[in-house]
Amino acid sequence: LLPRIMEFAGPALNVDIPNLTVPQFILDSPHELRPPRKEDVPLFIEDGTGRTLCHAEVHHRTQGLANALSLRWSLSEDDVALTTFIIPSLFGPSIGPANPSYTVDELIHQLQTANANAIIVYSTFLPTIIEAARAVGIPKDRIILIDGPSNSTHVSVENLIEYGNSKPMNFIERKLNPGESKTKLAFLSFSSGTTGKKGQGDTDSFHHAVEIPHRSIISNVLQSAAHISGERDPLKRMMPGDVSLGVLPFFRIDIYGLIVTLHYALFSGFSVVVIPKFSFRGFLQSIDRYRITHLFVVPPQVVLLCKYPAIRDHDFSHVKFLMCGAAPLSGDLYVQLAKVFPNAMIGQGYGLTETATSVVAMDPTKLHGTIGAAGQLLPGIVAHVLKEDGSLAREGEQGELIVTGPSMALRYRNNEEATKSTFVNGWVRTGDEVIIRNNELFVVDRLKVRGFQVAPAELEGHLLLHPSVTDCCVVPVPNDYSGELPLAYVVLEPELRKRIGHVSDSKVQYKWLAGGVEFIDAIPKNPSGKILRRLLREQARKRKSAE
Ligand code: AMP
Repeated sequence: LLPRIMEFAGPALNVDIPNLTVPQFILDSPHELRPPRKEDVPLFIEDGTGRTLCHAEVHHRTQGLANALSLRWSLSEDDVALTTFIIPSLFGPSIGPANPSYTVDELIHQLQTANANAIIVYSTFLPTIIEAARAVGIPKDRIILIDGPSNSTHVSVENLIEYGNSKPMNFIERKLNPGESKTKLAFLSFSSGTTGKKGQGDTDSFHHAVEIPHRSIISNVLQSAAHISGERDPLKRMMPGDVSLGVLPFFRIDIYGLIVTLHYALFSGFSVVVIPKFSFRGFLQSIDRYRITHLFVVPPQVVLLCKYPAIRDHDFSHVKFLMCGAAPLSGDLYVQLAKVFPNAMIGQGYGLTETATSVVAMDPTKLHGTIGAAGQLLPGIVAHVLKEDGSLAREGEQGELIVTGPSMALRYRNNEEATKSTFVNGWVRTGDEVIIRNNELFVVDRLKVRGFQVAPAELEGHLLLHPSVTDCCVVPVPNDYSGELPLAYVVLEPELRKRIGHVSDSKVQYKWLAGGVEFIDAIPKNPSGKILRRLLREQARKRKSAE
């Protein structure tokens, strides 16, 4: 008997994927899967002020900003602006979403990797970004403020929009050549660098810049729409005029915020309420005030929603859809969530920056899906599950998820080695251990702190820089609030404190080894030197449950 090729696949994606730029597609293009736009529904609502932006205003403002960038600095389609927020740039150059809590070193890495030549940020971000910009030679006057009034050094987005709209149009909206949307970059988005290499001792310390072309984003919006629309939405959960909360600041969960919360919601005809800064109390008030129908959240927010006593004072009956993504959602939290949001369809989504973005999503035909499942394979996705012995897993067997589909990103910028091991002939090696059963995906292995991805390899590489560390391995330990915390097993120690300080001095707070540091004689490895991470992970879990 010939061995059967074990391939798992979502339904076929039988729709046209238009050769457009993302803004042309999101703002202007008719599509068979697109619900008719309601003219009186604003695209954006600013939380706090209640200011709304309709379709024509978004168009006018983005044109104005693009014109100003072009007139003032001759920036055009192949230039990159690093930003902490995505909205001002729907029409502008490619963007590398940055995290405002990054350290100067981390920002320098992002600016250099992305070859950025402008920066668009909130004013609170200024002290760090000025230092990073100086180090890479970006002039101060190219640091643009999203919120503040212009000052003598920094111009504001608002002023640029006014300026751009008061001058003759220098910016010409590009029509792509046939097939060009497959290669023309829309975004550079930073992911942790361990995809396809988890557990293989990758010591490449910082995050990789993933090159995402326009077609990937358009495809993924269409895949999600095909998954939940028309007949596949018997519970009528996706309707034009619904209101979703842009609570994932768009830099924060990177691609999840960017594609799902922003582009998918706008395509579906929702209004997106934008919260510039997350506070839990404010978040609850906004859900009430705008009678939010759709919530896209991450596990730390779910923990707050389930445990915060004041939740009882709120009536969330208007919430009809809640998706949790970016990290695993435990069964216990899932059950509690269903009590807090009695009318909501609740489930998970799963995806990566490298797959731009969703690979699976919750079953739209059921109010509550299978506990622990990350979701069903989306239309157009084909998956292999690769076992440790190199053979392909059958249904119910565990292995590394390898996927392909129309939304896959192209490569890592300026990193051929990492590109080769992750992007293989149109397939993406996710590095995630999974099981597929009854067409549903279960993620088995990962490390994420408060929704932020932490690459164990980054911390291991950094610990190894310390002169008194000869070997180490970082594994997750479960934590109710943060989801997981990194715990380091370290070989050869003199001073514990110094080592923790070694990480906290130079890494953003969510990467600190809050799970602890343990000293052992040797890191378990297989004969070819690959760390047997699973053994340490189990040891860490046992230790935690014995506490
Ligand atoms: P990023 O590229 O930063 O968005 O992170 C992608 C990674 O997040 C994946 O490789 C997974 O490890 C993890 N992830 C995303 N969604 C889920 C989910 N629903 N359950 C478990 N892990 C997830």
